Amino acid sequence: MRIVVKVGTSTLAHTTGKLNIKRTQALCRVLSDLKNAGHEVILVSSGAIGMGVGKLGLKEKPTDIPTKQAAAAVGQCELMYTYDRLFTEYHHNVAQILLTGADFAADDRHDNFTNTLSRLLELGVLPIINENDTVATEEIKVGDNDTLSAYVAVSAKAELLVILSDVNGLYDKDPHKNADAKLIEHVHGSPEALLDVASGAGSALGTGGMKTKLKAAKIAGEAGCDTVIANGENPDLLYDIAAGKVGGYTKFFAR
Ligand code: GLU
Repeated sequence: MRIVVKVGTSTLAHTTGKLNIKRTQALCRVLSDLKNAGHEVILVSSGAIGMGVGKLGLKEKPTDIPTKQAAAAVGQCELMYTYDRLFTEYHHNVAQILLTGADFAADDRHDNFTNTLSRLLELGVLPIINENDTVATEEIKVGDNDTLSAYVAVSAKAELLVILSDVNGLYDKDPHKNADAKLIEHVHGSPEALLDVASGAGSALGTGGMKTKLKAAKIAGEAGCDTVIANGENPDLLYDIAAGKVGGYTKFFAR
């Protein structure tokens, strides 16, 4: 199975912006093992800005574009250094691909991307994709990595998109505010119909909320790719997800 896994800053980093070593190690171990079991894995990883914030010792996530882009430039190195080191421990090669919205809009650039991606997968490499934050301006950027991961899943003709989050999935009410909120475990209809139950806000360091995840599920679903929204807290859950077990997270079945 070809799986795209999207991981956000809230999974990779502590609220200080520094790397959550335990969790990132677990993620790389499980993804390596899924590759060893024969799955093709593509990782869409945020964390460049968040890790840049931590590395530069900034007090909070910057709001001005030059500082955001500078933080991303510093953090992207740190991010790839971390992944390269951890995946190398399990004898897997990684590759960095940085994209903007313009790369999906222009046919020739999109072809180059998909050709490179296919070749990397044939070579057994684990591609790690992020938005090219240092050059992306409002006009050309995808904007959030949930949407980016859906574009990647469609381009890669993946069977499954897994979006790891800091919640267990989609609830019928905002779980941060309602103790009796229930997890919706499977969705067969349009993800968009659930937009009004999704709460918008993300964590302090991340970008998307539940809305961008539903939008991603819709984009992937229209191309025949199932989407899972699951908690990134325990990466071992990815074993169940890859095995098609249902429960403990939200799965959107492609129509
Ligand atoms: N590309 C941004 C980063 O790596 C994050 C975008 C997102 O989290 O959606 O920091």
